[in-house]
Amino acid sequence: MNASTARKVAMITGANKGIGRAIAGQLAEQGMTVLLGARDPRRGEEAAAALRAAGGDAHALRLDVTDPATAQEAARWIEERFGRLDVLVNNAGITGSGQVAPQDAHDQVPSAAGLDMVRAVFETNVFGVITVTNAVLPLLRRSPAARIVNVSSHAGSLTLAGAPDGPFAALPPSAAYTPSKTALNALTVQYANELRKDGILVNAAAPGYVDTDSNNHTGHLTPAQGAAVVVRLATLGPDGPTAGFFSAEGPLPW
Ligand code: NAP
Repeated sequence: MNASTARKVAMITGANKGIGRAIAGQLAEQGMTVLLGARDPRRGEEAAAALRAAGGDAHALRLDVTDPATAQEAARWIEERFGRLDVLVNNAGITGSGQVAPQDAHDQVPSAAGLDMVRAVFETNVFGVITVTNAVLPLLRRSPAARIVNVSSHAGSLTLAGAPDGPFAALPPSAAYTPSKTALNALTVQYANELRKDGILVNAAAPGYVDTDSNNHTGHLTPAQGAAVVVRLATLGPDGPTAGFFSAEGPLPW
């Protein structure tokens, strides 16, 4: 076994910037080989080069989660190079409203939302997760202790979203982003149930309100702070939870 295959291998989708890039950096700091999925290979390579300069073992992979051919190509490359995958982080996501603060996303109000936008959000945030997960699942099955983390959101909690005095009561309702994260939570439970017998732990993570392009830099947490819960779930021991939904503070209601 050479040096690169002795390390755990993690793939993070949407890792060229934001929370995904921070997740890749923290997993690299823990000694994992990190594969940074990016739909723009140049920006993926820039991010990977920065992690290598900091001492990490990082490689960029072209991966558009809405394009199954790129997911298959990524899986082939990982198989040839490493023969297995230990960690998959489904982080890539879009708001559907562009780079706006959540309080300004009035185009997602259910009675007015354009279906093309709703479909595009589900294509990336939900169907893209199925595309990528299934493409690399044979490689995850070869790991002795594979972990899958789906990057969700507090907003995906039906309990929190439905509370009249809850944290989202003052925000415009959404037919796209918020339901896409609820669907992602549901998908997390279904994958966890299928993969429990194989020892693959599957959980959803809510990073909190993080300062990134996706909210026009209105978040109060740093990408590193948002990444921490994802990294914790990506590095769970054998007795760790599966089919769960967690923030940095602990379990979240569905
Ligand atoms: P971001 O800075 O906008 O990063 C999103 C990443 O996803 C980018 O790398 C983007 O690539 C990538 N991406 C989008 N569509 C893709 C596709 N079709 N294929 C591959 N990559 C794609 O946003 P972020 O805030 O870091 O968001 C990361 C995740 O955290 C998302 O799932 C988001 O919903 C979730 N989240 C964020 C917050 C927050 O407060 N920021 C809160 C809760 C949950 P490009 O650079 O090419 O666009």
